[in-house]
Amino acid sequence: MSENVTKKLMLFFPQCECEAPIIYHLVKDHNLVVNVFRAKVTPDEEGYLVLDVTGTEEDIQNGLDFVKTYDVTINETGKGVTRDQDGCTHCGACVVHCPSKALYIASGATREVAYNEEQCIECLKCIRVCPYAACASAF
Ligand code: SF4
Ligand code: SF4
Repeated sequence: MSENVTKKLMLFFPQCECEAPIIYHLVKDHNLVVNVFRAKVTPDEEGYLVLDVTGTEEDIQNGLDFVKTYDVTINETGKGVTRDQDGCTHCGACVVHCPSKALYIASGATREVAYNEEQCIECLKCIRVCPYAACASAF
């Protein structure tokens, strides 16, 4: 019997696909346990979902193939937080607030601030503290 794994995904739904019963089918037809932990519909009625799916590798792959039949963009890193490389002044204000060290001083000499997206836990603190609005989230 195949082992269950959990995968984090971010789905972006253009306006026309917001009503699609995608989660229902992932659960019912693809045997996946779905844990939605962030969702938003923008004023333009585009939708964002951050979710975990748990199931066998095969069921997850089949579920993703099913999602791809819709006009839905899948971000398999599940990350909604981005940093604008050009907008960042490397002031360092975010570094002390980042609990996971995703934002860190990469060079003691230049004080360059780097961002390791893999480490980000999406607490959104950097967005609140960045004076230059260099950090942003789909949420
Ligand atoms: S969202 Fe939180 S964890 Fe992610 S980079 Fe910003 S402060 Fe760090
Ligand atoms: S607070 Fe903003 S401008 Fe300053 S280092 Fe962090 S991301 Fe860059």
